[in-house]
Amino acid sequence: MPPGRRRRGSMSRTLAAALFLARRANLAHTAFNGRIRRRGIKNKMDFEAFFATKLDSLHEEGRYRVFAELERRAGAFPAAARYVGPEARDVTVWCSNDYLGMGQHPKVLAAMHEALDRCGAGAGGTRNISGTNHYHVLLERELADLHGKEGALIFTSGYVSNWTTLSTLGASIPGVVIFSDALNHASMIEGVRHSRAEKRIWKHNDVKDLERQLALLPASTPKIVAFESVYSMDGDIAPLREIVEVAEKYGALTYLDEVHAVGMYGPRGGGIAEREGLMDRIDIIEGTLGKAFGVIGGYITGSARLIDFVRSYASGFIFTTALPPAVAAGAIASIRHLKVSQMERMRHRERVAAVRSRLDAIGIPYMPNPSHIVPVMVGDAAKCKWLSDILLDEHGIYVQPINYPTVPRKTERLRITPTPLHTDADIDRLVSALSGLWSQCALARAVA
Ligand code: PLP
Repeated sequence: MPPGRRRRGSMSRTLAAALFLARRANLAHTAFNGRIRRRGIKNKMDFEAFFATKLDSLHEEGRYRVFAELERRAGAFPAAARYVGPEARDVTVWCSNDYLGMGQHPKVLAAMHEALDRCGAGAGGTRNISGTNHYHVLLERELADLHGKEGALIFTSGYVSNWTTLSTLGASIPGVVIFSDALNHASMIEGVRHSRAEKRIWKHNDVKDLERQLALLPASTPKIVAFESVYSMDGDIAPLREIVEVAEKYGALTYLDEVHAVGMYGPRGGGIAEREGLMDRIDIIEGTLGKAFGVIGGYITGSARLIDFVRSYASGFIFTTALPPAVAAGAIASIRHLKVSQMERMRHRERVAAVRSRLDAIGIPYMPNPSHIVPVMVGDAAKCKWLSDILLDEHGIYVQPINYPTVPRKTERLRITPTPLHTDADIDRLVSALSGLWSQCALARAVA
């Protein structure tokens, strides 16, 4: 070995040893300081007591959330096993957002198995750094086609797609003002908030109020109108055509969340905008792969430039690992199936109507709406939780209570979501359990 090499080697060994000793001394010093700091500070924050107080207040208001530990049974949905300790009991799920049961569809499962065997478990990176899989590209093509757009971009959830897109647009477009419907989902609200763009809240589904507020700003101010199609808690549907017309009149970019509508409405499952023939007049259509499509993930669709812009600037897209290829494969299979099959949508509508007419017959009050969601109104957080507990423990019926802040106080409810897979016998059991509990709890019945 040449002498020069040996010298460099011995120098680096010395350096390494010195660094090691310095690091050890530094760590010891930091640990020592940490102990001193923790022991020495008076009136320090008691974090555990703070958490306990906050949790106690949720308990007191009757809105502390308890998970039902379920095991969905592929092939048997809406039946599931519910774990109470080591014991598993049978339950029927009545509050799933797997609205059409696609989470167990044989085509979806087969596609996922195949992709899992071909590609393995994870994507292996962000989309930019080795994580773009062929299945991601196919999925984005499928979604662009579903909504009649030039491009699509997938995210790890619907929440992330809303948050990321709105925050990126709001933060990037100089002077933009975002007009947000008063009942928009938390993911949109947080996205707008994070963008720090100026926002204006318009009254829920009130096109006159939207127009009034749009008219207050000069034409040169860039504007975004953000809204949903199906609002998931009340099940009402936005007047899309009027909103689009007003937005066009004032030159605003339109951002539509179709999370509770994709797969469910429109001849190919493109959502309410497809059903109303409005997809080409809406700039950005956002959706989820986690509800009617039965898998997980979120997306936006729009012009090629807009998609490229979000792809290139959005932190929530750039700096996170891509969806597993098997998930993308399952979503592709689900979307393709629902583009051509009407069976699930037709049966779903029939089941929703069946549940409503049975509730009518016994006077259980629910909020009427033109969608698939059946909000059974209780109007009291503690009673709502009690009803849900008894349904689960004594009747094997799982319906989650919906309390504040998801809905306003005094409008607490049981949000029932029938699926095409609920049988007549399932409906019989649900209705008779509700009827008994309504009497027991002295809750008001609707007058026919
Ligand atoms: N948008 C709306 C209107 C929602 O209700 C939800 C979730 O329930 C989301 C977005 C988030 O979608 P995901 O569950 O895919 O994160």
